[in-house]
Amino acid sequence: MKFISTNKKSEPVAFNDAILNGLADDGGLYVPNMFPVLPESFWKHLSDYSLTDIAKIALSPYTSDNWDEDILDAVITRAFNFKAPLVTLDDHTYVMELFHGPTLAFKDFGARFLAHSFDKIAGDQKITILVATSGDTGSAVAQGFKDAKHVTVKLLYPSGKVSKLQEQQLTTAGGNVKAIEINGTFDDCQHLVKQAFSDPELREKMVLSSANSINIGRLLPQSLYYIYALAQYRKKRNDVPVISVPSGNMGNVTGGLIAMKMGIPVQNFIIATNINDVVPEYLEKGIFTPRKSQRTISNAMDVGNPSNLARIQHLFDDSVEQMRRSLQGYSFTDEETKGAIREVFEKKGYVLDPHTAIGYLASLKYRKKMDRKELPVIIMSTAHPAKFKDIVEPIIGESIPLPAALEQCMKKEKRSIKMEPSYKDFKSYLLDQKPEYETTNR
Ligand SMILES: *Cc1c(COP(=O)(O)O)cnc(C)c1O
Repeated sequence: MKFISTNKKSEPVAFNDAILNGLADDGGLYVPNMFPVLPESFWKHLSDYSLTDIAKIALSPYTSDNWDEDILDAVITRAFNFKAPLVTLDDHTYVMELFHGPTLAFKDFGARFLAHSFDKIAGDQKITILVATSGDTGSAVAQGFKDAKHVTVKLLYPSGKVSKLQEQQLTTAGGNVKAIEINGTFDDCQHLVKQAFSDPELREKMVLSSANSINIGRLLPQSLYYIYALAQYRKKRNDVPVISVPSGNMGNVTGGLIAMKMGIPVQNFIIATNINDVVPEYLEKGIFTPRKSQRTISNAMDVGNPSNLARIQHLFDDSVEQMRRSLQGYSFTDEETKGAIREVFEKKGYVLDPHTAIGYLASLKYRKKMDRKELPVIIMSTAHPAKFKDIVEPIIGESIPLPAALEQCMKKEKRSIKMEPSYKDFKSYLLDQKPEYETTNR
């Protein structure tokens, strides 16, 4: 199996190179050149499989050019060491809880798989991963890579501009994960990383790679939990559900569409967004108009130009008509989101985070449109409500306890390297790591 670029101008590469390169050299995103349809016997016995069983079967066609079975096994076992239950919300609504990983969001699936993949690929060479983060992605990467042995991670984050919880996760991972606290904005962080990648001198002296969300190594594992959701669904019922996905950069839903290509039996995917509705608008009008993102309470979905749209277009042969056959798009305001959190808590005693609440709202809207109150829906739950305590607690009027692992993390000592947004400083830090301006400030 090879990976080709959505811009179609780069040479196809094998899995390891697709991961190491991150982006294809024509600027496009890597996609598999084919999607293996899993055999009928697999789907027939789906309910017998665990997440790691599914991962081994579904991923091996993509990795087998580079990895033997033992490597894939090791990566999967280390990456997916947390649960992902399908919870019943009411007679026809199910919530796939993707937030039981170390940073309480679905990004743990992709970040952990990529981390352990890098660790295996690195072998004896030293790979340095550079990540600019505005919070969430960085914390998933930090926690994912902390047990990796052969890779060093430099996380750049804007000082004072991430939440306390995110900062703790960024700065306490330890091991080969170093948090660099930039006295500037997220854009400054991103600019420093981009400069490093385009610096020939630096690239000659060290192997640089990135772990951002466009890496195919983060995307492929996101197809697994759709299949695992169906495996659990089969224990409850035998019909074909619709899947509602809270979406921003469209990486999560693209994972679902890959699962669809591999044969997952679902009716339709719903792309549920906040007021950053460029994709629902595209589905409706057939014209894509990227915009500046607007701030909302579901801020992980505040995206005005979703990076994975190019992949979705590729999957549907660039035809909006084809997309419309499998995809619905709906968007909701913050007020509606808060209303949904309140309603579900009062009626069903279940606490939704703001992102999942949008997935819930979209499921209601789709049922209404189809005029089928009993249409079965699985909502992909992207984050634990404790992660958004500040928003959720006042709505439900109760406090949400932090899961134990996070409680632990909050108590650890922050370790960061403070730096001005100067490329000269950043480069000399990367090249000469002797003076570690490690500061601890609590
Ligand atoms: C990243 C994120 C999303 C959006 O996922 P995409 O893959 O960017 O569409 C939704 N909810 C939460 C909690 C997230 O962290």
